[in-house]
Amino acid sequence: MQFSDNNVLIVGGVLLVHPSPCAVTIARCPMLRLVFTLFFCAVPLAAQTMPPEADKQLAHDIYKEFVEIRSGFTTGSTTPVAEAAAARLRAAGFPDADIFVGGANPNKANLVVRYHGTGSRKPLLLLAHTDVVEAKREDWSMDPFQLIERDGFFYGRGTSDDKAQAAVWIASLIRYRREGFKPHRDIIVALTADEEGGGPYNGVDWLIKNHRELIDAELALNEGGWGESDAGRKISNDLQVSEKYAINFRFEVRNKGGHSSLPVPDNAIYHLAGALERLSHFGFPLKTNEVTAAYFQKMAKIETGPVSEDLAKVPEGSQEAMQRVAAASPAWNATLRTTCVATQLEGGHAMNALPQLAAANVNCRVLPEDSLEYVRNALQKVMADD
Ligand SMILES: [Zn+2]
Repeated sequence: MQFSDNNVLIVGGVLLVHPSPCAVTIARCPMLRLVFTLFFCAVPLAAQTMPPEADKQLAHDIYKEFVEIRSGFTTGSTTPVAEAAAARLRAAGFPDADIFVGGANPNKANLVVRYHGTGSRKPLLLLAHTDVVEAKREDWSMDPFQLIERDGFFYGRGTSDDKAQAAVWIASLIRYRREGFKPHRDIIVALTADEEGGGPYNGVDWLIKNHRELIDAELALNEGGWGESDAGRKISNDLQVSEKYAINFRFEVRNKGGHSSLPVPDNAIYHLAGALERLSHFGFPLKTNEVTAAYFQKMAKIETGPVSEDLAKVPEGSQEAMQRVAAASPAWNATLRTTCVATQLEGGHAMNALPQLAAANVNCRVLPEDSLEYVRNALQKVMADD
C-alpha cells in the first residue's frame, strides 16, 4: 500500500476559519471548533439591543440575496455577491473611493469596504467568505439556493457558513452610516472568495498579496464562534480562539490485475477494504488542551444531568468521562481528539477486470498540538498491511 500526503491541504484564512459546511442556524452544529464559552446571554439585554425593524428587514434582504446567489467554489462565482454588496453600499451613500471589488479572476471577486472612524486607533477588519460548499439539488429536500425560513430556522446553502456573517457585516455598516456612528477605528469589511475547498483563488490570500493596504488592520474578526441555545433559550456565546487543521491522505493499492474469470486472493479492492475497515475501528487518543479544557469547564455549568458531571471531569483528564462525552456528541468527540475518516473511493477500471488500482481519500482534522508526522505514522500503523 502506498501512502501519500502530497495533496496535503491546510484549510485556513488569515485568522480563524472553520472548514466544514453547516446548513442551518442551530445550536451545536457538528463543526469543529475549539472555543471558550465566554458569557451567557440574558434575553432582556438582547431585546434592548435589537436593531430597529427596518434594519432587521434590510439585513434579512441582504442575507436572502447573498444565499440565493450560486457561489459554489467550483461551479459558482463570488463576483455577483461582491457586486450585490457593493450596490447595497453605494445605495446607502458609501463613496466609490471606499469600495473595492476585485479578485484573482473574473469569477472570484472579493469586496473590501472601509467605514471611516476618527483614525485615533488602527483599523478593525471584519471578514466573511462568500463562496459555499457545492450543493447538489438532488441531495437536498429543498432548493439549496433559495432562502427558506421554517419553524424558526433558515435553510439554504451558506445560511450559516458564511453568508449570514457577510450580510450582518454589510447591514451593520449601512446602519452605522445612517446613524452617523463615528468609531475610533476605521472598520474594514472584506467579503472574500474561495475559503472552501482549498482552491488557488483564496480571497484573503489574494488581498494580502495584491492589496495589503486595503485590509491592513490591528484586529480582525472572522467566522468560527457562535451562540448555543436549548429549546429557544440562549445559553452561551462562544468565541473560537483555536482551530484544527485539515489534511487529506490518499491511500493507494496497486496490483498487476488480470481477468475476472481467474481471480486470486491478492486483490487491490480487498486490500483497501481491509485497511478502511481497520481505520473504522481506530480512534486517536482523547485529550484536552488549554482551550478545550476551558470550554468543557464552562459547559459543565450549562449542561444538566449526568453529562454535566462528566463534562466537569474532562478537564481533569478522566479517560472514562472523556469516552462518555465523546460518545454523547460527534462535536464533543471531534473536540477531544484528532479524527480521520474515509471520504472518497475509487477503484477498478472494468466490470470484468481484476482491479489494478484501488484508492481512498482519508480526511483528517488534526488538533493543533498534533503534528502531521504523528498523524501519518498513526495511520500507517493502522492501515498498512505489509
Ligand atoms: Zn466558513
